[in-house]
Amino acid sequence: MAEAVSGYVTRFAPSPTGPLHLGHAFSALTAFGRAQERDGTFLLRIEDGDTSRSRAEWEALIYADLRWLGISWPDPVMHVTAREEIYGNALKTFAEMGLVFPCSCTRRDVLSALSAPQEGAPMGPDGIVYPGTCRSRPMSTFQPGEAIRLDMRKAVSFLGDVERFSWEETGPYETGVHRLDPRRLLDEVGDVVLARKEIGTAAYHLSVVIDDAAQGITEVVRGADLMEATQIHRLLQALLDLPTPLYHHHRLIRDTAGKRLAKRADAKAISKYREEGATPADLRAMIGL
Ligand code: GLU
Repeated sequence: MAEAVSGYVTRFAPSPTGPLHLGHAFSALTAFGRAQERDGTFLLRIEDGDTSRSRAEWEALIYADLRWLGISWPDPVMHVTAREEIYGNALKTFAEMGLVFPCSCTRRDVLSALSAPQEGAPMGPDGIVYPGTCRSRPMSTFQPGEAIRLDMRKAVSFLGDVERFSWEETGPYETGVHRLDPRRLLDEVGDVVLARKEIGTAAYHLSVVIDDAAQGITEVVRGADLMEATQIHRLLQALLDLPTPLYHHHRLIRDTAGKRLAKRADAKAISKYREEGATPADLRAMIGL
């Protein structure tokens, strides 16, 4: 891997599950620009952990779109799918610490176990707060095909005074020092999923902290939709004794109706603008850069 000129290292970590849209262009250009301003390094990481939705064609299009935007990165590009053994080791560590349990619940099981689902399920940065159905199951009962969840109550009590674990937001929102809050972790996050189906198939929250540490990331640049998830990442860093980067959660690019762009919602692909003859400068102007 190329040596950073300064100590600054950031990354862009797209999932190859569809074409990149303007929101991705903004994220990649912001990260690349911050690295350039600081004489630092911009790395690319392909988050292809969701193998049912990831495609080689989308990955090839990511490279083409980023190059067209004028973004470059050193090889080799990290791939989540090449790192199962590393995530598996972290999960074994958690199992030895007694902090994880296997879970066979479907989304439907989770909803029906909630005491008053009609009032709306309690939602946090990892989705519905898990009601705890499988929490007492030992890891020795894990069956392939099941998920592995972190027992949040045990994790919080293992760490003791969790408020001592902090991270710094470099803006533009909620700039400054943030601290883990046990109440939010227990009531709003709950027993997050760390792996799906196999021990080595890490869920996003686990792979992202391990990979940011492995790539020596000093500042994570990503959309403000992931601001709330940062408490999960900081908690996992504390449990795994990993370094904590700075976090820069940038504004989200919205469509004309004010909705956040999402691949699923058919946001217009960068490649479409390219085909229609737009230049990289046109694209930058569209996203206010
Ligand atoms: N693969 C994630 C996404 O596309 C990356 C999130 C992150 O930058 O941490 O949303």
